[in-house]
Amino acid sequence: MKPANVVGKLLRALLGLLLLLLGFAGFFTCAATTVDYPVVASQEGVQAWPRGAFHVHTTRSDGRGTVEEVAAAARAAGLQFVVLTDHNDFGPREPAFVNGVLMIPAVEISTPTGHLVAFGMQTPLDGPRARQEGMSAVEAAGGVSVLAHPVQKKNPWTDAEGARRARGFELYSADTFFRDAVRSPLSRLIPAVGATFANAMHGVMLLVTPQPASTERLLELTQERPRLALCSHDAHGWPRYRDVFLALATYLPPTALPEPLSMEPKVAAAQVLRALSSGQAVCAFRGLGEPMGFALEGPLSEQREARVGDVLTIRLPPHEPGSVRVEVSGAGRLRPDGAAIELVEEGAVQIEAWVLAPGRFFGSEWRPWIVPSPIRVLPRSSGG
Ligand SMILES: [Zn+2]
Ligand SMILES: [Zn+2]
Repeated sequence: MKPANVVGKLLRALLGLLLLLLGFAGFFTCAATTVDYPVVASQEGVQAWPRGAFHVHTTRSDGRGTVEEVAAAARAAGLQFVVLTDHNDFGPREPAFVNGVLMIPAVEISTPTGHLVAFGMQTPLDGPRARQEGMSAVEAAGGVSVLAHPVQKKNPWTDAEGARRARGFELYSADTFFRDAVRSPLSRLIPAVGATFANAMHGVMLLVTPQPASTERLLELTQERPRLALCSHDAHGWPRYRDVFLALATYLPPTALPEPLSMEPKVAAAQVLRALSSGQAVCAFRGLGEPMGFALEGPLSEQREARVGDVLTIRLPPHEPGSVRVEVSGAGRLRPDGAAIELVEEGAVQIEAWVLAPGRFFGSEWRPWIVPSPIRVLPRSSGG
């Protein structure tokens, strides 16, 4: 056979494959035209909680958008604040309102044992020292450390001992969702890309899956001391900033932020960061519904500690029966009433609201919806 014939055959085979993949993706595009968001309808006349994006990259590192473009996307998505976490961006920066959105400088540090998000530093971080020492450098600067996408194949957190020093933990990470999907192109990635052509929200939401390994690791760490669970956009501009901001946000309920946000950027940034580190912030996959009305009630300390035998009650935003369920992991047991959670053993418990959301085909799948920080469960008798 002449070389030209071989090339021709190869090209035809490639074209055939491409058409096949397009057809396959097209199937999911068609399916996506029938779905509706949000799944839980918004309530009329309810005061919205301040909401924002945590863990966002710009052109200051490997993001596609400038700070101004990210602020415009956040404004279009109805966010009040964005925590910017460009890679190893140690230069001095001040919080500022851009386009009416509070842009808060923070940093994602590449350390030898994984990525670390640091915010709220009282003194500037020394770059080389921070990259080498991670948590201890952040602590010395008066900041809060968060393990970024700790349970992930590409850039996991690998230092088990060091992990115990971090206050925060990215329980759900859009970057991890995306990388998981890339590893399962036929069952995860192509359905999401196909759906995006008809419904961008559905495309992003199809990437969201339960994260049992991440939850288990967070609960292990919470046995020792209270931890912050954060949801991370890890936004780089693809999928588009606005789409991921509309799909997910970190909310500051009145328990986390009792007073309105200041108009003065430094004061406002301090308010947001204090709320984020209080353990009272919640994240919500807002594409599925807004979280206003969600609460965990009962004998809970400010540090989110309770005792074996205590009973907590979960309050949920109004919803259609059967569309929402309470997901309890760890040291708690949901009672048959579906709202009371009994703390049955020492350790830690994670209590989330999940929603029956549109699936890849025409069915439905349970997805995480409202995600608070975990609760540490102390023994009945200790301390008094
Ligand atoms: Zn990272
Ligand atoms: Zn990142």
